[in-house]
Amino acid sequence: MSTGYDLELINMTKRYGETLAVDRINYQFKAGSYVCLLGPSGCGKSSTLRMIAGHESLSDGSVVLDGFDVSHLPPAKRGTAMMFQNYALFPHLTVRDNVAFSLRMKGMDKIARHAKANALLELVDMTALADRLPAQLSGGQQQRVALARALITEPKVLLLDEPLSALDPFLRVRMRAELKKLQRALGITFIHVTHGQDEALALGDTLVVMNNAVIEQAGPARDVWSAPKTEFVARFMGGHNVITLDGGKVALRADDVKVGAKGLPATVTTVEYQGGHVALNARMQSGDEVLALVPEATFFKSPKNPGDAVKLAWDEGRLHRLLG
Ligand code: ADP
Ligand code: MG
Repeated sequence: MSTGYDLELINMTKRYGETLAVDRINYQFKAGSYVCLLGPSGCGKSSTLRMIAGHESLSDGSVVLDGFDVSHLPPAKRGTAMMFQNYALFPHLTVRDNVAFSLRMKGMDKIARHAKANALLELVDMTALADRLPAQLSGGQQQRVALARALITEPKVLLLDEPLSALDPFLRVRMRAELKKLQRALGITFIHVTHGQDEALALGDTLVVMNNAVIEQAGPARDVWSAPKTEFVARFMGGHNVITLDGGKVALRADDVKVGAKGLPATVTTVEYQGGHVALNARMQSGDEVLALVPEATFFKSPKNPGDAVKLAWDEGRLHRLLG
């Protein structure tokens, strides 16, 4: 049903001198899915994306698209396209000519390439501004142009490196909905790099969490969030406590912590009103700090303040053991 191709990374490795940026990554991206690649700054996300796109050579391993090893092909011959972090639009070209640029490089005549560029501009809702220069556009509009320019090559896989990071928070939320809609309409694979867990959860069918040059955990978004395998993933995805019980480390969802009359004694350290719920931090006698997300109505029935003694409880079945 999907028109995309499976993309497989085999032992993909990148070294820059002494720096091991990507360490033998193996992963198969399912055709037609929206994948979010996330992790802290410096963990190897951009290097991974650039190697898939062909803008960076592999130190070892291969990139396989639809069964073909494309590792040694130039970017334009891979069936992938990349949208860069800063959009990299040509300042002296109009919006339409920016979008048509790769077709001009391929020698397509002006009428044909402009017709195709116009169709892409329609897709990203930029028809009215086709004759402007990039400097005459807002950040969100520049981003649409960059998207159209990447899509004009009809990629099977679109690679987006922190595509929303330059936008203000309001526009970011709007543009992410549009990206998702576009991916669904085109049916191709999107691999979207972000360091934001909210963005990854909102967009990704699949999340690939990287840390220290390796994939720490990958899977459906809900699985990664609700069943983090390691302390790193639990902390990075947020919304979880990592606590030590009986000598082992466990993760416990903050919304599974009950603040009431029964349970382990603790002292409230901070209280933050967040709208629908209240984030309450409390220190247990073990020294572990526990975050409880309490529904707003529940909290205000019996409000707490920093310094208050409280009891924390949870269902044993909600504890989630962590590896390593
Ligand atoms: P991320 O996108 O997750 O922030 P990068 O892939 O950009 O991570 O970088 C991974 C590691 O490789 C970092 O330690 C970074 O400093 C290093 N690195 C990235 N690009 C280069 C480069 N061109 N030359 C040398 N080191 C680099
Ligand atoms: Mg990066």
